[in-house]
Amino acid sequence: MKSAIVLGAGMAGVSTALALQGRGWAVTLVDRKAPGRETSFGNAGIIQSEAVEPYAMPRSIRELVDIAFGQTNDVFYAFRELPFHIGALFRYWWHSEEGRHRAAAIAWASLIAQATSTHEKLIERAGAGNLIRKSGFRVLHRTVAELETALKDAERKKEAYGIGYAALSASEMAAAEPALKTGGAGAVHWLDSWTVSDPGGLVESYADLFQRSGGRFVHGDAATLRRVGAGWTVMTEEGPIEAEHAVFSLGPWSSDTLRKFGHHFPMVYKRGYHAHYRSPEQLNAPVMDSENGYLLLPMLAGTRITTGAHLARFHAGPAYNQLEHAEEAAKDLFDLGQRIEDKPWQGTRPCMPDMLPVIGASQHEKGLWMNFGHGHQGFTLGPASADVLATMMDGGMPAIDMRPFRPDRY
Ligand SMILES: Cc1cc2nc3c(=O)[nH]c(=O)nc-3n(C[C@H](O)[C@H](O)[C@H](O)COP(=O)(O)OP(=O)(O)OC[C@H]3O[C@@H](n4cnc5c(N)ncnc54)[C@H](O)[C@@H]3O)c2cc1C
Repeated sequence: MKSAIVLGAGMAGVSTALALQGRGWAVTLVDRKAPGRETSFGNAGIIQSEAVEPYAMPRSIRELVDIAFGQTNDVFYAFRELPFHIGALFRYWWHSEEGRHRAAAIAWASLIAQATSTHEKLIERAGAGNLIRKSGFRVLHRTVAELETALKDAERKKEAYGIGYAALSASEMAAAEPALKTGGAGAVHWLDSWTVSDPGGLVESYADLFQRSGGRFVHGDAATLRRVGAGWTVMTEEGPIEAEHAVFSLGPWSSDTLRKFGHHFPMVYKRGYHAHYRSPEQLNAPVMDSENGYLLLPMLAGTRITTGAHLARFHAGPAYNQLEHAEEAAKDLFDLGQRIEDKPWQGTRPCMPDMLPVIGASQHEKGLWMNFGHGHQGFTLGPASADVLATMMDGGMPAIDMRPFRPDRY
């Protein structure tokens, strides 16, 4: 029987463990925390079949100036942080040019197309249907001009990729979400995306499925991975574990931890924050306040606000200004109620400068594999990217072109 250690039990790692197990492999999943406690815990929980194009960096001078002067809440960075990540940011900017972004989108869309079907199988097997809403989510626009631009873009995506949307007038938006104080200028309703009421809980339920099906989860430190003979060993609370293959699915920790194997992945770290509120009324589905760059999400833990991207060094301290702006902007839309936690949650979207995840074999070490760097959509793409990686590890040929994702492009 083939064997693997999967390092990291976020959405990417747990899905990878399940995909290999499904192919008859003996798999040990290793994390220093319980499954689904980091980035895959605190996100917006949207399985985003509408996210058919990766998130590019703004290229126009106006948008860049707006970001630089804090005129947008989508993206924030502190000038003093810039020298520490300017190289990766510059590469991201370069790859965001229209033609390069179009090429990346072809590869990206081929994975996104598999997102809901691969999740669906796991949701069913895990018995996690109670966490899933299949009613899409709505992007509210405050001005007619913004709504018109968004509708044009939605129509373009519908024609190019076949994804479903509905245009909602202000009154239709207000009727769809009676808890909102206003329908704004109207909304784009993405119909095919699924939303999750407890993202960490979904990962946990997938990890339970893995263990019920005979897989082993142990606490351990991925940084202790080293070669033994033709295989690998890692130190865990249950002693050293050995296997023929090892997979890195450490989300934003992947680049640092892979250095000792001669890999230098330039990651763009996009911090995000969330807080929960005890709201008197519930939303039916997530609402994005587009012009203010945040989401309002009905979660089991309360209404969750998630913020846009704070571009920072991985270990930089928090900056709560985006969350504070979101709370202020939300007052016009919704009665948030009391904040539940004293301290907001923070996590980091693991983004690659070319906007594509790293999926495939190490060019330096035999039996070392990678599945990380899914950026804004790792929760969506976990099972789809696990499926193609497991196919490759098992000696098969995935149905999609894997060349854009290969690790040796860096
Ligand atoms: C605010 C916000 C909103 C988001 N919204 C969405 C959304 O709606 N939809 C979507 O698709 N994506 C969303 N994302 C992105 C998504 O959350 C991430 O892309 C995804 O969770 C990454 O999953 P992962 O498994 O790669 O990483 P993680 O979930 O971070 O898992 C990595 C694991 O590695 C473990 N680890 C790290 N170092 C070690 C070590 N040395 N030893 C052992 N274990 C280690 C960690 O404990 C962790 O469990 C959002 C992100 C943020 C921040």
